[in-house]
Amino acid sequence: MRSRLRYAVIVLLAAVSATAAAQVFNTTRPPKGDKEWPVVKEGTTVRISPHVYVIPSESVPRVPNVGIIVGETATMIVDPGMGLLSGQAVARETAKVSRNTRIYLFTTHLHPEHTTGGMAFPDAKIVRAAAAQKDIDEAGMEWIGIFAKRSPELAEILKGASIRKADEIFDREKTIDLGGVRVRLIYVGPAHTLGDTALFVEEDKVLFSGDLAMKNIFPAFAMPQSSMRTWLASLDLLDRLGATQVVGSHGDLADAAIIGANRALLAALQRRAIALKREGQSANAAGRLLVEEFKAQYPAWDQPVRVLSAVDAVYKETP
Ligand SMILES: [Zn+2]
Repeated sequence: MRSRLRYAVIVLLAAVSATAAAQVFNTTRPPKGDKEWPVVKEGTTVRISPHVYVIPSESVPRVPNVGIIVGETATMIVDPGMGLLSGQAVARETAKVSRNTRIYLFTTHLHPEHTTGGMAFPDAKIVRAAAAQKDIDEAGMEWIGIFAKRSPELAEILKGASIRKADEIFDREKTIDLGGVRVRLIYVGPAHTLGDTALFVEEDKVLFSGDLAMKNIFPAFAMPQSSMRTWLASLDLLDRLGATQVVGSHGDLADAAIIGANRALLAALQRRAIALKREGQSANAAGRLLVEEFKAQYPAWDQPVRVLSAVDAVYKETP
């Protein structure tokens, strides 16, 4: 467990240069001289469908797109942001759009900006995939520690942070009725992490795709268990849902085209990595080559350095 996480960190750190390493989980950088303060911003909530509201990340590093799904009898929060302060902001935004006292809390994966805001919702019911709970049990606190070391601001935001255990666990899929609107929680890992879980709002056809499909952001293979094969299969599954709007966990709000765009990028990356492995190239050499290749082919996409860990994942699962 500890060693697995350490391995993940070593892979990430070894794979990228020292300055790039700090950016692995960013979508954009704060302007020079600006302190980062990744707390969910209030007063920006938008309604994107009859039952779904989003507090957009506005591409602030380490702030997720937060979802609020409001039914007649219950409300579900998706990814409550980093630390108690974010969670409190989400709770105040939720109170503006819902009077339900039954609150569900859902997180797309274990990383601190998706989970630790949950501290502001002590009475919410947490429903999670078994693999997502496993990630949190094994590495949740370690990731909080890793983030807290990155800056004094993050240390302050994450002071005393923890991730509460799920009240209910499911294996592959679980549907929850919020009253007039149903949400389907679908386990789609291991991809970005072991426990990745997507959420589909049936009546509104809105998909929360987690880190599996984001707009113009290279996919991050963040854990030793991260798998290109599962990632591609999961994108096929998500595509079949027929979503009309897709909310990635970071980046701009989008439509279903980002599922195909991420699939095409990953499939091309898989093909190139397999070809280079067959030619006898090392994972490291192939990674460095493909970072440049994909940077040139996808100039609008942020974080091309993530190609390195994607190549590692392909090498590991290619005989
Ligand atoms: Zn993440």
